[in-house]
Amino acid sequence: MTTLVIATKNAGKAREYRKMLAPHGIEIKTLADFAPIKINENGHSFEENATIKAQTVMNVLGLPVMADDSGLVVDALNGAPGIYSARYAGDHDDAANNAKLLRALADVPDEKRTAHFHTTIVALKPDGTKLVANGRINGQILRQRRGENGFGYDPLFYVPSLHKTLAQLTAEQKNQVSHRGRALRQFMNDFPEWWQVE
Ligand code: IMP
Repeated sequence: MTTLVIATKNAGKAREYRKMLAPHGIEIKTLADFAPIKINENGHSFEENATIKAQTVMNVLGLPVMADDSGLVVDALNGAPGIYSARYAGDHDDAANNAKLLRALADVPDEKRTAHFHTTIVALKPDGTKLVANGRINGQILRQRRGENGFGYDPLFYVPSLHKTLAQLTAEQKNQVSHRGRALRQFMNDFPEWWQVE
Protein backbone atom coordinates (compact mmCIF):
# COMPACT_ATOMS: atom_id res chain seq x y z
CA MET A 1 0.00 0.00 0.00
CA THR A 2 1.74 3.18 -1.13
CA THR A 3 -0.93 5.78 -1.87
CA LEU A 4 -2.75 8.00 0.62
CA VAL A 5 -5.50 10.34 -0.57
CA ILE A 6 -5.97 13.65 1.22
CA ALA A 7 -9.64 14.58 1.08
CA THR A 8 -9.12 18.25 0.24
CA LYS A 9 -9.06 20.52 -2.78
CA ASN A 10 -7.26 23.21 -0.77
CA ALA A 11 -3.80 23.52 -2.33
CA GLY A 12 -2.25 25.05 0.80
CA LYS A 13 -3.41 22.21 3.03
CA ALA A 14 -2.31 19.61 0.47
CA ARG A 15 1.18 21.15 0.34
CA GLU A 16 1.51 21.11 4.11
CA TYR A 17 0.36 17.50 4.47
CA ARG A 18 2.54 16.38 1.58
CA LYS A 19 5.60 17.91 3.26
CA MET A 20 4.97 15.95 6.46
CA LEU A 21 4.20 12.65 4.73
CA ALA A 22 6.85 12.72 1.99
CA PRO A 23 9.62 11.30 4.22
CA HIS A 24 7.51 8.17 4.68
CA GLY A 25 7.83 7.30 0.98
CA ILE A 26 4.07 7.53 0.43
CA GLU A 27 2.48 8.77 -2.77
CA ILE A 28 0.10 11.58 -1.83
CA LYS A 29 -2.95 12.32 -3.95
CA THR A 30 -5.71 14.85 -3.37
CA LEU A 31 -9.28 15.22 -4.59
CA ALA A 32 -7.89 17.32 -7.45
CA ASP A 33 -6.43 14.10 -8.93
CA PHE A 34 -9.83 12.41 -9.32
CA ALA A 35 -13.25 13.03 -10.83
CA PRO A 36 -15.44 15.07 -8.45
CA ILE A 37 -16.80 13.17 -5.43
CA LYS A 38 -19.96 14.45 -3.76
CA ILE A 39 -19.49 14.67 0.00
CA ASN A 40 -22.51 15.26 2.22
CA GLU A 41 -20.89 16.90 5.24
CA ASN A 42 -23.82 16.63 7.63
CA GLY A 43 -22.17 15.50 10.85
CA HIS A 44 -22.67 17.08 14.28
CA SER A 45 -19.05 17.30 15.36
CA PHE A 46 -15.61 17.92 13.88
CA GLU A 47 -14.81 14.21 14.15
CA GLU A 48 -18.08 13.14 12.52
CA ASN A 49 -17.50 15.50 9.60
CA ALA A 50 -13.88 14.44 9.11
CA THR A 51 -14.99 10.79 9.24
CA ILE A 52 -17.78 11.36 6.70
CA LYS A 53 -15.28 12.98 4.32
CA ALA A 54 -12.73 10.19 4.72
CA GLN A 55 -15.33 7.40 4.49
CA THR A 56 -17.07 8.85 1.40
CA VAL A 57 -13.81 9.23 -0.50
CA MET A 58 -12.55 5.81 0.58
CA ASN A 59 -15.78 4.13 -0.54
CA VAL A 60 -15.37 5.64 -4.02
CA LEU A 61 -11.63 5.17 -4.48
CA GLY A 62 -10.86 2.11 -2.38
CA LEU A 63 -7.67 3.77 -1.10
CA PRO A 64 -6.58 4.95 2.37
CA VAL A 65 -7.84 8.48 2.98
CA MET A 66 -7.02 11.30 5.39
CA ALA A 67 -9.51 14.13 6.04
CA ASP A 68 -9.75 17.01 8.48
CA ASP A 69 -12.32 19.39 9.87
CA SER A 70 -11.64 22.59 11.78
CA GLY A 71 -13.47 25.53 13.24
CA LEU A 72 -13.70 28.33 15.75
CA VAL A 73 -15.50 27.61 19.04
CA VAL A 74 -16.62 30.72 20.96
CA ASP A 75 -17.65 30.20 24.58
CA ALA A 76 -20.06 33.15 24.81
CA LEU A 77 -21.86 31.83 21.71
CA ASN A 78 -22.31 28.33 23.14
CA GLY A 79 -19.68 26.96 20.78
CA ALA A 80 -20.75 28.75 17.59
CA PRO A 81 -19.70 29.01 14.82
CA GLY A 82 -18.07 25.59 15.46
CA ILE A 83 -18.61 23.13 12.63
CA TYR A 84 -20.34 25.92 10.68
CA SER A 85 -17.28 28.23 10.77
CA ALA A 86 -16.73 28.30 6.99
CA ARG A 87 -20.33 29.25 6.25
CA TYR A 88 -21.21 31.29 9.36
CA ALA A 89 -22.28 34.39 7.36
CA GLY A 90 -21.57 33.43 3.78
CA ASP A 91 -19.89 30.49 2.14
CA HIS A 92 -16.13 30.92 2.77
CA ASP A 93 -16.59 34.71 2.94
CA ASP A 94 -13.98 35.61 5.58
CA ALA A 95 -14.90 39.31 5.80
CA ALA A 96 -18.61 38.57 6.27
CA ASN A 97 -17.87 35.83 8.81
CA ASN A 98 -15.65 38.15 10.86
CA ALA A 99 -18.20 40.96 10.72
CA LYS A 100 -20.96 38.62 11.92
CA LEU A 101 -18.75 37.38 14.77
CA LEU A 102 -18.06 40.96 15.90
CA ARG A 103 -21.78 41.77 15.84
CA ALA A 104 -22.64 38.63 17.80
CA LEU A 105 -20.10 39.56 20.50
CA ALA A 106 -20.75 43.31 20.56
CA ASP A 107 -22.19 43.26 24.08
CA VAL A 108 -19.87 40.61 25.50
CA PRO A 109 -17.23 41.99 27.92
CA ASP A 110 -13.53 41.33 27.32
CA GLU A 111 -13.15 38.65 29.99
CA LYS A 112 -15.96 36.59 28.44
CA ARG A 113 -14.61 36.66 24.86
CA THR A 114 -12.72 33.38 25.23
CA ALA A 115 -12.58 30.96 22.31
CA HIS A 116 -10.54 28.18 20.78
CA PHE A 117 -9.78 26.77 17.38
CA HIS A 118 -10.13 23.01 16.99
CA THR A 119 -8.96 20.56 14.34
CA THR A 120 -9.73 16.88 14.05
CA ILE A 121 -7.85 14.74 11.54
CA VAL A 122 -9.26 11.32 10.65
CA ALA A 123 -7.55 8.71 8.51
CA LEU A 124 -9.20 5.49 7.36
CA LYS A 125 -7.84 2.39 5.63
CA PRO A 126 -9.97 0.01 3.55
CA ASP A 127 -9.46 -2.64 6.26
CA GLY A 128 -11.44 -0.37 8.60
CA THR A 129 -8.64 0.83 10.86
CA LYS A 130 -9.04 4.46 11.87
CA LEU A 131 -6.59 7.04 13.15
CA VAL A 132 -7.86 10.18 14.92
CA ALA A 133 -5.81 13.19 16.01
CA ASN A 134 -6.97 16.44 17.62
CA GLY A 135 -5.41 19.86 18.14
CA ARG A 136 -6.51 23.03 19.86
CA ILE A 137 -5.37 26.59 20.55
CA ASN A 138 -6.96 28.88 23.14
CA GLY A 139 -7.45 32.60 22.69
CA GLN A 140 -9.77 35.60 22.85
CA ILE A 141 -11.85 37.38 20.24
CA LEU A 142 -10.78 41.02 19.80
CA ARG A 143 -13.10 43.91 18.95
CA GLN A 144 -11.10 44.85 15.84
CA ARG A 145 -9.06 42.95 13.31
CA ARG A 146 -5.31 42.96 13.83
CA GLY A 147 -2.71 41.62 11.35
CA GLU A 148 -2.64 40.78 7.67
CA ASN A 149 -1.51 37.15 7.51
CA GLY A 150 -3.41 33.88 7.68
CA PHE A 151 -7.05 33.47 6.72
CA GLY A 152 -10.52 33.05 8.17
CA TYR A 153 -10.90 34.36 11.72
CA ASP A 154 -7.13 34.82 12.28
CA PRO A 155 -7.23 38.67 12.53
CA LEU A 156 -9.72 38.50 15.43
CA PHE A 157 -8.12 35.60 17.31
CA TYR A 158 -5.73 36.93 19.96
CA VAL A 159 -3.29 34.57 21.66
CA PRO A 160 -2.50 36.06 25.11
CA SER A 161 0.78 34.19 25.61
CA LEU A 162 2.13 35.63 22.32
CA HIS A 163 0.52 39.10 22.66
CA LYS A 164 -0.49 38.75 19.00
CA THR A 165 -3.34 37.59 16.83
CA LEU A 166 -2.83 34.58 14.59
CA ALA A 167 -2.84 37.02 11.65
CA GLN A 168 0.28 38.70 13.10
CA LEU A 169 2.29 35.47 12.93
CA THR A 170 4.24 34.09 9.97
CA ALA A 171 2.97 30.82 8.54
CA GLU A 172 5.74 28.97 10.37
CA GLN A 173 5.05 30.66 13.71
CA LYS A 174 1.34 29.92 13.34
CA ASN A 175 2.05 26.30 12.52
CA GLN A 176 3.99 25.89 15.78
CA VAL A 177 1.04 26.90 17.95
CA SER A 178 -2.07 26.36 15.85
CA HIS A 179 -4.80 23.76 16.26
CA ARG A 180 -3.95 22.38 12.79
CA GLY A 181 -0.20 22.22 13.49
CA ARG A 182 -0.81 20.47 16.80
CA ALA A 183 -3.26 17.97 15.32
CA LEU A 184 -0.89 17.23 12.47
CA ARG A 185 2.06 16.63 14.80
CA GLN A 186 -0.04 14.23 16.88
CA PHE A 187 -1.21 12.56 13.67
CA MET A 188 2.36 12.13 12.42
CA ASN A 189 3.39 10.71 15.78
CA ASP A 190 0.78 7.94 15.53
CA PHE A 191 0.89 7.57 11.75
CA PRO A 192 3.74 5.03 11.19
CA GLU A 193 2.16 2.39 13.40
CA TRP A 194 -1.33 2.89 11.92
CA TRP A 195 0.01 2.82 8.36
CA GLN A 196 1.84 -0.45 8.87
CA VAL A 197 -0.72 -2.46 10.82
CA GLU A 198 -2.63 -4.81 8.50
P1 IMP B 1 -11.56 23.74 7.59
O1 IMP B 1 -12.38 22.60 8.10
O2 IMP B 1 -10.10 23.59 7.90
O3 IMP B 1 -11.81 24.02 6.12
O4 IMP B 1 -12.00 25.07 8.37
C1 IMP B 1 -13.34 25.51 8.37
C2 IMP B 1 -13.41 27.00 8.66
O5 IMP B 1 -12.97 27.28 9.98
C3 IMP B 1 -12.55 27.88 7.76
O6 IMP B 1 -13.21 28.20 6.55
C4 IMP B 1 -12.33 29.11 8.65
O7 IMP B 1 -13.47 29.95 8.60
C5 IMP B 1 -12.25 28.49 10.03
N1 IMP B 1 -10.84 28.17 10.35
C6 IMP B 1 -10.29 26.93 10.42
N2 IMP B 1 -8.99 27.01 10.71
C7 IMP B 1 -8.70 28.32 10.79
C8 IMP B 1 -7.49 29.04 11.07
O8 IMP B 1 -6.40 28.48 11.25
N3 IMP B 1 -7.60 30.38 11.11
C9 IMP B 1 -8.76 31.03 10.90
N4 IMP B 1 -9.90 30.43 10.61
C10 IMP B 1 -9.88 29.07 10.58
